[in-house]
Amino acid sequence: MANGKINVAVENIFPLIKKFLYSDHEIFLRELISNATDAISKLKHLSSIGEVKGEIGDPGIEVKVDKDNKKIHIIDQGVGMTSEEVNKYINELAFSGAEEFLEKYKDNAKDSGIIGHFGLGFYSAFMVAKKVEIITQSHQEAPAAHWTCDGSPEFTLEETEKKERGTEIVLHIADDSTEFLEEARIRELLNKYNKFMPFPIKFGTREETLPLPKDAKEDAKPETQTVDHIINNTHPAWTKSPSELKEEDYKSFYRELYPMQFEEPLFNIHLNVDYPFNLTGILYFPKIKNDLNLQKDKIQLYQNQVFVTDNVEGIVPEFLTMLRGVIDSPDIPLNVSRSYLQSDGAVKKISNYITRKVADKLSSLFKKDRKGYEEKWNDIKVVIEYGMLTEDKFYEKADQFMLYPTTEGEYLTYSELETAVKNTQTDKDGKLVFLYASNVEDQHQYIESAKNKGYKVLLLDSPIIAHLIQKLEGDKDKIAFARVDGDAVEKLIKKDEAVVSKLSDEEKERLKPLIEAVISGEKYSVQLEAMDSAELPFVLTQPEFMRRMKEMQQTGGGMMGAFPEMYTLLVNTNHELVGQILQTKTANKRERLIQQALDLARLSQNLLKGEALTAFLKRSVDLIK
Ligand code: ADP
Ligand code: MG
Repeated sequence: MANGKINVAVENIFPLIKKFLYSDHEIFLRELISNATDAISKLKHLSSIGEVKGEIGDPGIEVKVDKDNKKIHIIDQGVGMTSEEVNKYINELAFSGAEEFLEKYKDNAKDSGIIGHFGLGFYSAFMVAKKVEIITQSHQEAPAAHWTCDGSPEFTLEETEKKERGTEIVLHIADDSTEFLEEARIRELLNKYNKFMPFPIKFGTREETLPLPKDAKEDAKPETQTVDHIINNTHPAWTKSPSELKEEDYKSFYRELYPMQFEEPLFNIHLNVDYPFNLTGILYFPKIKNDLNLQKDKIQLYQNQVFVTDNVEGIVPEFLTMLRGVIDSPDIPLNVSRSYLQSDGAVKKISNYITRKVADKLSSLFKKDRKGYEEKWNDIKVVIEYGMLTEDKFYEKADQFMLYPTTEGEYLTYSELETAVKNTQTDKDGKLVFLYASNVEDQHQYIESAKNKGYKVLLLDSPIIAHLIQKLEGDKDKIAFARVDGDAVEKLIKKDEAVVSKLSDEEKERLKPLIEAVISGEKYSVQLEAMDSAELPFVLTQPEFMRRMKEMQQTGGGMMGAFPEMYTLLVNTNHELVGQILQTKTANKRERLIQQALDLARLSQNLLKGEALTAFLKRSVDLIK
């Protein structure tokens, strides 16, 4: 047996970095600007505790593209490094100066906003550069250092001249990465990753129009001057305290985040915690359409104002991925896999916190301005319903702000709904039955008929409502939801005494087979019912259960196999026409009446199509001519 140490040949590490360290080569710029930002954060911190003497001014960062010489320069006015520090922080791979700094100043540097973590970011430069130079002047009294490395493990480190404090990184761009020599490409990257970083980042210049002097002539042209182009907003709204911000500030920040978005957000939620984890951010409720998939991946995740990703899956509960906005947390690990994120305790806590904040906001909006909340209801209901379905914590709170709109334009809370139908809508088992429609046009006739009976009809038309109803029924005691065109309506115990049937039992026994004989080819089960004479002669209903299972299946309910179409044909024994069907002597006429009544019922359920529709039209014309 032999013990030993696997010898990792350092020669091989650069190709590995190049290939695998980051899947996205473009992040090299984010990493180098993060280091530059850290260098300035450190300088500011050291100055604030007196370790750096004198004025430090307003240090910033500059990015320059030198296309002719195939170089990119990243220049900062931060702490800089002595040659000992270069040896320690750069030559020792995977040694993070950022972590060391935080460790050393742990009592007071916690909030200094240091980004670095793993001591690998710098080497991402080799994903795009064949040679990298560091020219750096420390804030301490020490000669400037010049480090050069061509991607092999050999480097040179020598003294050099540099007047200004800070560091310049020079990337000699490799032949396979020349896309990064395009100014437009770099601008795009800066805009994506660095738009909200805390220190000014200069990239190129821009023309600024000067105001005209007061005594200018009418046809005078305004003068322009060339100024530095600062690409970032160093104090984005989420880093400020809510008390500093007005409604308009939130809106203009929204426009800054989504310049191509022309619709205003409905409202926002400012997130701000520092214990037990650190998190700030602003979430916006946009108008949410009924299409669930179109609107994901709009929330941006930042770490200390550096853009990380717009895939927040796992950090934000799924139902909230339909929102927009920004989340910033130093506690969310930057470069780790999604599966790790999902099992990470801090991440789970963050997700719970966000859920709670959203629930609290909704409930306070409802309490403070019910009318305004009701007006927004149709644009936010999908998120709320989805949240109730998927997050138990949210579901528990939702009774305070979930609304049940009626076809009459009222918006009821659950308890208001209960009170409203308590005395009128119970079935034989004593269950409260909430009637609802999913489409006021298609179900018009059923809605009218239910309203005429004094019932309240809700309007529940979200794509996932069947799932939610199912959950509510399982959770609340003795209630059921039933669609107006379903089979439940006729089973309700009516408040006024039941309608008396005009047909005797003997007549009914004769009637049923007559009808069944005509419709034998159809899959309807016939049921005689003494309804109001103003109702249609025949009414088609579908069992609530069947229809709902079908709907749930369509929106991911899990059950396999197609459900059969099943309908009940209610025959209104009190209708004049039904009396005629019974009395008529000629079989032909009876058949025609039955067929016509059935087609009318099918028409009202949107079931009359094709050949059957043609036959119906022809028969109708024959009847009236
Ligand atoms: P990390 O940022 O995770 O610590 P990096 O590989 O990005 O790891 O950088 C390694 C270290 O090199 C940094 O922690 C820092 O001490 C030093 N460093 C890198 N870039 C700069 C810079 N622009 N100014 C000063 N120090 C720097
Ligand atoms: Mg770094």
